[in-house]
Amino acid sequence: MTDLRELYQEVIFDHNRHPRNAGPLPDANRSAEGFNPLCGDRLKLYLKVEDGIIKDIRFEGAGCAISTASASLMTESLKGKTEAQAETLFKEFHTLLTEKAHAPASFPDKLRVLQNVREFPARVKCATLCWHTLYAALANNSQPVSTE
Ligand code: ZN
Repeated sequence: MTDLRELYQEVIFDHNRHPRNAGPLPDANRSAEGFNPLCGDRLKLYLKVEDGIIKDIRFEGAGCAISTASASLMTESLKGKTEAQAETLFKEFHTLLTEKAHAPASFPDKLRVLQNVREFPARVKCATLCWHTLYAALANNSQPVSTE
């Protein structure tokens, strides 16, 4: 278990240092902004959705290591997924972090690296900010999202 924890931490450090899919997306047709006042994390999410499929997704933001790594891992996990699949992943991720439940076998390993965040309740919102922002973008909600 210790090895697994170290592996998870290493993945989080790596995604914080080298975020994937960072930067603007000029041909985005959905976007949303999110803010986590507890920590100060800010995030802008850009999506290109066609025929209900997330063709591309990028993010910009300034936040802590957890929020940046979570956004990076989320964007990697969502490319090519349908909007319905994205909503299911959001629910499973949220349950994993807030209810300390087990994720189903189909849940991506990539997102499991963040599950230890649930031991630090104050940081859970850092990890879920990008997902709340995703939800707003998919719903075409132009109001900035706050985790509070
Ligand atoms: Zn944070």
